[in-house]
Amino acid sequence: MNKVAELSRLHTAGHLIGLAIKHLGLPLMSRQSHHLPGESYVECKGDIDENRKEEIKTAIEEEVNKLIAENKPIVERVQLVEMCPSIPYQVPNDKPMRVVIVEGEAGIPCGESHVCVTSQIGRVIINEISTKNGNVRICYSLN
Ligand SMILES: [Zn+2]
Repeated sequence: MNKVAELSRLHTAGHLIGLAIKHLGLPLMSRQSHHLPGESYVECKGDIDENRKEEIKTAIEEEVNKLIAENKPIVERVQLVEMCPSIPYQVPNDKPMRVVIVEGEAGIPCGESHVCVTSQIGRVIINEISTKNGNVRICYSLN
C-alpha cells in the first residue's frame, strides 16, 4: 500500500466516523481530525457519559464498518460554488473550496483526497475514546 493511498483511506475513515456520530445521534460535533498512520483521531466538541464509553466505541465502530460494507461511492472535488449558490461569509474565497460527498449524505467542504468507494478503506478499528475539557477524542486505525 503506498503512502498516499493509506492517507486517503485514513482520512476518508475520519469522515465516516463523523457520519457514524451523526447517524447514532450522539451529542458531538466534529471539530478537527488528524489522520497520520498510528495517530489518527477525530476530535469533537461535546460530552459523553464516561460509563457508556465502551458501548459508544462499539456502536461507532459498527456503524463505520457498516458504511464501509455498503460500498458507498464518494464524490470529491465538486466545486463548492457550483453546488451552493449562497456560501456563508466565513468560507474563505481565496482558497479552492471543494466538497466531499458520501452517497446519500450531506456534502462536507474538504480539499483533501479520498478513496472512491467506502469499501476501499477496509476495516476501521476504534481504539479509544477519551474526554477532556469538553472535547471527545476518537482514536482509530485501519485493520
Ligand atoms: Zn476529506
